[in-house]
Amino acid sequence: MNGENPIVLVDMDGVLADFDGATQAHLESLEIPIRERNNFYYRDDYPEANYTDVINKLHASQNFFRNLPPVDGAIEGWDKIKDLGYEPRICSSPLHTNEWCKEEKLKWIEEHLGREAMKSAVIDSKKELYDGIALIDDRPEVKTSGETTWRHVVFDAPHNKDSTSTIRLNGWYDPDLPAVLRYCMEHSKSRL
Ligand SMILES: [Mg+2]
Repeated sequence: MNGENPIVLVDMDGVLADFDGATQAHLESLEIPIRERNNFYYRDDYPEANYTDVINKLHASQNFFRNLPPVDGAIEGWDKIKDLGYEPRICSSPLHTNEWCKEEKLKWIEEHLGREAMKSAVIDSKKELYDGIALIDDRPEVKTSGETTWRHVVFDAPHNKDSTSTIRLNGWYDPDLPAVLRYCMEHSKSRL
């Protein structure tokens, strides 16, 4: 990384780290029936109090974020962004109900993506404060309090089918990754 390549911001949960997969495995271990993922927040698919409680406790537990498996193809995808001449940078919201979240995310990044990725990572929910040409994020609508330089690339997931964003990446093996980033490069907004 030379600090001059266009920055591509990359979300963690649901994009690099398999938050949903780990949650589903936990529910299965408790023999809780698996449902379709229609809502961004897992608990909204399981509104019954006993289920919500199980999910909230899991997400608030120590080592949950540390031990998330990588999403299929995520590490290769990260390297592909670099090979295409961009500079990937983590931009991830902390989960405030988990006191270990931020430090465990940083350890996860260092383990799976290396020290440079850890040092440049942003763990902050105010994603509009960080510049880039693209933000690859599975959230259907990234709510911001101001203008952003980046374009939201929706990382495809069952819970974001209704996103209004027109730019979509169908997983890390999507052959359109170069075209998607080129489009973002051409349509990103500079701060004047
Ligand atoms: Mg996410």
